[in-house]
Amino acid sequence: MTEKRNTRRIVGIEPPDSQRVRQWVQTLGETYPAWLEVSEMGKSLLGRSIWTLRLHGCDSSGLSAPDTPVLYCGGVHGREWMTTLLMLYFAEEVLHACRTGRRLCEMDMNRLLSTRSLVIVPCLNPDGTEISINGADSPGLSDYLSEELFTQCRSRAFCRRWKANARGVDINRNFNAGWDEMRAAAMERGICGPQPGGWTGAYPESEPETQAIVALCRQIRFRHVVAFHAQGEEIYWNYRSFTPPRAHLMARILSSSSGYRLGEPSANASAAGLKDWFMETYHAPAFTVEIGRGECPLSLGQFWFLYGRLREMLVLGAAL
Ligand SMILES: [Zn+2]
Repeated sequence: MTEKRNTRRIVGIEPPDSQRVRQWVQTLGETYPAWLEVSEMGKSLLGRSIWTLRLHGCDSSGLSAPDTPVLYCGGVHGREWMTTLLMLYFAEEVLHACRTGRRLCEMDMNRLLSTRSLVIVPCLNPDGTEISINGADSPGLSDYLSEELFTQCRSRAFCRRWKANARGVDINRNFNAGWDEMRAAAMERGICGPQPGGWTGAYPESEPETQAIVALCRQIRFRHVVAFHAQGEEIYWNYRSFTPPRAHLMARILSSSSGYRLGEPSANASAAGLKDWFMETYHAPAFTVEIGRGECPLSLGQFWFLYGRLREMLVLGAAL
């Protein structure tokens, strides 16, 4: 895959800060109105939009079936903003395939999305993403962080590694599934309050970002959920006794299409994440896909390699 692919593109290979994401999702909505509904599902702690893209097909065969959407979620952790770029770039490629009638990885996307729409939340944590990409100059940030933590944020290197939201709460430790144990485990490791990563928050679903996606899942009954993180080239697919039987087979298909290994159940002792909460609440499959290898944030130079490796998995994940 070469840089040439980008010539007619709306989504550029650039760090997806909130200004760019706003511009890209709005332009995608204006360019592909027959296949895409863009909406704001909520706001972050600092008032940034959390966008939802609902992609659906326009199948002329008149085929109709009950819609059982699939949810893809990126940008849960600030420094893992490569996942936001991945989501948006994929969304544009799907929409282009729908409009032109071209197949994507041998799949007729119009037909596929006519029976099952795909909902993409490209960035669940826009404040954390902004801190990682542009530093800690967000208006209002100092109201939520301790003086000490805010002072540390003067260092750009410190900010780049930021995972949490603007209150120093790790969104993927804030869901109501094994939350008490995760909090106890965090405190044992000395994480007793707001941090760049790992803090559970004061209580489950305390953060507006967590509340927004929980509300979305209550509103739309998703068939399954894939949450994208970085890094590790690994797919996690289980959560205690709540793992539905078909999750392992689905994970193996995702694994064989991407070459990412399956996380060992014993190695995935964590809880309080989106995957865990979704499985416990709906008894339906949910996955965490850790994209890429190396230091986070992953460099933009890795994008084409990542995308080339994950494209088929992204198509299959919507079809399963
Ligand atoms: Zn993550």
